[in-house]
Amino acid sequence: MKKVVIVGGGTGATLLANTLDRRRFAVTVLSNSAVHVFQPALLYVAFKHAAADVARDERRLLARHVRFVEEPVTHIDLPGHVVTTGGGRRYDYDYVVVATGVRTDPSQIPGLSDVNEEFGDYHTGVAQAQKVWARLDAFRGGTIALGQSSPIIKCPPSPVEGILLAEELMRGRGLRDRTRFVFFTPYPRPYPAEPMNQIVEPILRARGIEIMTFFDVDRIDPRARTIFSIEGEEIRYDLAIVIPPFVGADIAYEPASVRDANRLIITDRQSLRITGFDDAFAIGDATNLPTSKAGVGAHLEARVVARILSGERAAFDGRTHCPVDLGGGLGTFVIGSYTAPVVKYPPGRLSHLMKAMMARIYWLSLRGTLEPVFDWYFARTDPHRLSRTEPANRRAA
Ligand SMILES: Cc1cc2nc3c(=O)[nH]c(=O)nc-3n(C[C@H](O)[C@H](O)[C@H](O)COP(=O)(O)OP(=O)(O)OC[C@H]3O[C@@H](n4cnc5c(N)ncnc54)[C@H](O)[C@@H]3O)c2cc1C
Repeated sequence: MKKVVIVGGGTGATLLANTLDRRRFAVTVLSNSAVHVFQPALLYVAFKHAAADVARDERRLLARHVRFVEEPVTHIDLPGHVVTTGGGRRYDYDYVVVATGVRTDPSQIPGLSDVNEEFGDYHTGVAQAQKVWARLDAFRGGTIALGQSSPIIKCPPSPVEGILLAEELMRGRGLRDRTRFVFFTPYPRPYPAEPMNQIVEPILRARGIEIMTFFDVDRIDPRARTIFSIEGEEIRYDLAIVIPPFVGADIAYEPASVRDANRLIITDRQSLRITGFDDAFAIGDATNLPTSKAGVGAHLEARVVARILSGERAAFDGRTHCPVDLGGGLGTFVIGSYTAPVVKYPPGRLSHLMKAMMARIYWLSLRGTLEPVFDWYFARTDPHRLSRTEPANRRAA
């Protein structure tokens, strides 16, 4: 029996733990929280006041043979094969897999903690997302500013989704004429990948949303209700929903060089090994892989690691497949990989429906039993295959 220690209790960790063969692996999951949040639902908590099925007990999501320990990991000694928790317990392993995600860090930008405290944000947790809803609910007119404050982001479509849903909300409430919307981004265009921007930007413009590009948030003055950019521009707001910067987990590593300045783990793009170690892997948002930080990545990477541990040849191809809610019942997907640029995927009602459907099947998908369905679907929507079809002729899947 090989001992596998999985650090983290989110999307990637749970799927991997449930997928490994119980006859060959003794699996321990160490997480600082037994509450598993379905994070995509935070968008709907914040902008649609959704309440249903946002979080579940991690112990119930894991197969019975998996050992779960609720304790924060504080130290991982890669050469010594030891993981240490805040309670001082030590776990040795044959393989370690780090799936600790990223967390928001408003402290990086002066004034941002106060702004997040006042208006909430929808990337930190349920309580913060509920605060966004409370502020939107009480809003009666003025300027709503929404954007990301740093280039690293969990779920790259989420800023665009947020402003479109906020605009839809105010329109529905008859407050649109009294509301100015400003969308800001550090990138040169509203969606960083150009083919997807060709879909997103016209929609933002058609809905009268002002766009400020190359807007790197430098500081915020909550009293003057003004966001300042490094480039010297300003946004005056009445309500600000600012997505904070993201950093990796607060864990000390031996050697420290396996992490970058944002505490992301330096990970081999294909094998998902932590650089320099054959028996240590990282998956999901915790890595520095050049892919979108999204649940689908964590999912696919977990499967690659499960296959490698089982002795198969497997490599991650950088595949991403992120649903985008464009409001008005329309959706699209950001689909790409290391070798295939993001495709221009036409908006449709079916894509929107599929995003809603994922919310329903998420908990079940963590069991690993739906993999044949995912395999079929991902093959059908392979970005190489899609890019061979003209966008105008392509039907939304
Ligand atoms: C608003 C929003 C919308 C989103 N929409 C989508 C979407 O539509 N589609 C999509 O694919 N993705 C979406 N995502 C992103 C998706 O939720 C994440 O990318 C995904 O959860 C990443 O999985 P992970 O396993 O890497 O990390 P996570 O699921 O974040 O899990 C990290 C785990 O590590 C644990 N942990 C952290 N530090 C420690 C420590 N020191 N010790 C022990 N445990 C620790 C945490 O408690 C947690 O259990 C969205 C995210 C947000 C915020």
